[in-house]
Amino acid sequence: MLGAGMAGLLAARVLAGAYEQVTIVERDTAPGPGRARRGVPQGRHAHMLLPRGQEILHGLFPGLESELVEAGAVVADPRTEHRFTLGGHALRRVPRSDRVVQASRPLLEGAVRDRVRALDGVAFADGCDAVGLVAPDPRRVTGVRIMRRVPGSAEEELPADLVVDATGRSGRTRLWLESLGHDPAPREEIKVGVAYASRPVRLPLGSPPDKAVVVGPGPGRPRGMALIAIEGDRHLLTLAGLDRGHRPPTDPEGFLDYMAGMAPPDVAEAVRAAEPLGEIATHRYPSDLRHRYERLRRFPAGLLVTGDALCSFNPIYAQGMTVACLEAQVLARTLDTAGAGARGLTRRYFREVGKALDDPWRMAVAADLSMPEVPGRRGAIVRLLNAYVGRVQAAAARDPEIAGRLMRVIGLLDPPSTLMRPSVLAAACAVRRSADPSPHATPRPETPSAQEVRG
Ligand SMILES: Cc1cc2nc3c(=O)[nH]c(=O)nc-3n(C[C@H](O)[C@H](O)[C@H](O)COP(=O)(O)OP(=O)(O)OC[C@H]3O[C@@H](n4cnc5c(N)ncnc54)[C@H](O)[C@@H]3O)c2cc1C
Repeated sequence: MLGAGMAGLLAARVLAGAYEQVTIVERDTAPGPGRARRGVPQGRHAHMLLPRGQEILHGLFPGLESELVEAGAVVADPRTEHRFTLGGHALRRVPRSDRVVQASRPLLEGAVRDRVRALDGVAFADGCDAVGLVAPDPRRVTGVRIMRRVPGSAEEELPADLVVDATGRSGRTRLWLESLGHDPAPREEIKVGVAYASRPVRLPLGSPPDKAVVVGPGPGRPRGMALIAIEGDRHLLTLAGLDRGHRPPTDPEGFLDYMAGMAPPDVAEAVRAAEPLGEIATHRYPSDLRHRYERLRRFPAGLLVTGDALCSFNPIYAQGMTVACLEAQVLARTLDTAGAGARGLTRRYFREVGKALDDPWRMAVAADLSMPEVPGRRGAIVRLLNAYVGRVQAAAARDPEIAGRLMRVIGLLDPPSTLMRPSVLAAACAVRRSADPSPHATPRPETPSAQEVRG
């Protein structure tokens, strides 16, 4: 297993059920509890685990939810404590939802790492770089070359029946395969160019009770924000905007002004009065990137790829960790049906994982292409779908049932096709053009009635 980020840990959990020994090669050394680490710089920014990801994660690690809560994670009820503004429309609160557990990325990853560390047959090789594949015959990978991060160390070979690359966006499988004489894998890329800036804050007493306030980019305003309650009685404020003229400022005043330009007014007021708890961290995300290994005619046995190393999404849609959960599920199913040593394992995995990636990928790409600033070809279908989604968002600002359906699709619980059901179509068609919002029309959604809350 290469990489001990979320995707690597989840895959290791699955592999531990099928292989006698799983070694996780990670270039970082494990940080202290709840601390961000170098190999995962995005850990300083808001990380929401979508409902589908929560379902899968807690299925893989029974009891994890209570451990997270014990460590300070925040339990939120989306029916009353989440506020979403999408495409400029302040959505109604959803009528039905399971509770969600919110934590910083370091807390979540640390809890998962502890559980993986406790599994029989799992060992961590921390402080080691994976530098290449071992494949005397290019048709089969038989191990990995590693280098310890200590002065004077030499390359070592680690033999393995199966190597899984989960080294994140900078993963080098494509290059490693080319050096073995394989064709370059086709890839798809949308150069979205998003800049992030985040800071943890403590809101003053009496602030709005919301545990998540999310404002997505809207027509004419390619910016977004998330204010997420996390452990330690803190909120993590993440601002994001297209690099082309919408980069969030990093000076404290500019940072707050940028936030106030899109936050609901009561939230903006609370954040302005909040106590800053750390530096403003920044991050650049260049592009959505999907490697299509399933399209290669030849691919070596004994090698799989998962997580951001396979497909990396604009983080604004919070899909990455949930997609890593979906990929772990595919891996488990593939191992169940094909068997750990099977010849067709690789091909079957890439075929199935490709299918699992299709919906989240199309959703992210279509949403990115809805912003005119993002370069890329917009076919008739993408334009039509984006116009339709805009109408569904407008309908969700009036109708809690539509808001619920939309949030289930965004949460990857339901496929996007469920937004084509007659009730949603009718609501979307009923939206008048005059319902188009102004970028700052973000009224506080009505508090749901007691009956709505009981669902
Ligand atoms: C700003 C930002 C915000 C985000 N917000 C969200 C969110 O709200 N929700 C969400 O679900 N996702 C979010 N994501 C995406 C999410 O972080 C990833 O999709 C998810 O963590 C899966 O990543 P991964 O495990 O594949 O890679 P990573 O998390 O990048 O982990 C890769 C690991 O591999 C190690 N590594 C790299 N190279 C080597 C090597 N050669 N040898 C050994 N080890 C190596 C690294 O040290 C690291 O530990 C966000 C991303 C960014 C950038």
